[in-house]
Amino acid sequence: MLLLDRVEPYGKALDAHRAQGALIGLVPTMGALHEGHLSLIEQAARECDVVVVSVYVNPLQFGPAEDLASYPRDVEGDRAKAAAAGADYVLAPSETEMFGVAPATTVHVAGLTKYFEGAVRPGHFDGVATIVTKLLALTGPCRAYFGEKDYQQLAVIRRLVKDLSFPVEVRGCPTVRDIDGLALSSRNAYLSAEERRVAPALFGALRAGKIAVEDQHVDDAGVVESIMAESIPPIAGIGLDYAAVADPDDLVPLRRIEGPVRLLIAARLGRTRLIDNLAARPQ
Ligand code: AMP
Repeated sequence: MLLLDRVEPYGKALDAHRAQGALIGLVPTMGALHEGHLSLIEQAARECDVVVVSVYVNPLQFGPAEDLASYPRDVEGDRAKAAAAGADYVLAPSETEMFGVAPATTVHVAGLTKYFEGAVRPGHFDGVATIVTKLLALTGPCRAYFGEKDYQQLAVIRRLVKDLSFPVEVRGCPTVRDIDGLALSSRNAYLSAEERRVAPALFGALRAGKIAVEDQHVDDAGVVESIMAESIPPIAGIGLDYAAVADPDDLVPLRRIEGPVRLLIAARLGRTRLIDNLAARPQ
């Protein structure tokens, strides 16, 4: 396993592999790797000849009041975990290596970014789309693996790859959860013991929404949203940003449920913001 912090040798190494007919699998991350990330790397290792994990805490996708400075960083630990999961390269560039100076170019995906995370975190998806565009350009033809955990992000990336004709096949991978249902996230490390105890309430709310859609045949999205919101315990320190029913493809809020939907939730627990989502389909 090779750790690279320079983008030029990275591009050359991948060109050499492709010249020999290798299929490259790319797993972009912000590091602090956990089992969720590792499941993406393992899937890439099963499906590709050469697996690359990028570790880059992307300043462009953090708002001014967000946790960029405190975001967990552990490149040595990430390198060992990525290698054990089947990675051949870890690309961990500095900010200067990535952009020299701050980029003058922004990639904006309209429509899909209007609601939910796009509304709560202005500019977030521009930062994501810009860095993913850069990573795909540096990597070249590949399969790129992203988690359904960040469902709206996955939709944004699928769209930008299609719109800009990148020679990339996007693979969406299922969310890995802890035993009590909490979706794994690097940000779970911020939770106090008490917050960690209540955090599975997000998944509980999604399951309550799914039962309403699938078993109780509720077709009024507003009712499903209330069921989800009300299943969050009214504890001081929990703040719900949204509990919503969205179209699974274009991520617009729905009023009536007439086919498959995506249930989306975001909440703040103390200083930590968590998101999760689940598919639901009327029976
Ligand atoms: P991040 O480091 O948070 O930017 O995540 C890097 C990639 O891992 C993204 O594609 C995420 O959607 C994915 N990911 C994060 N958490 C999970 C999880 N619990 N299960 C599956 N994929 C995940």
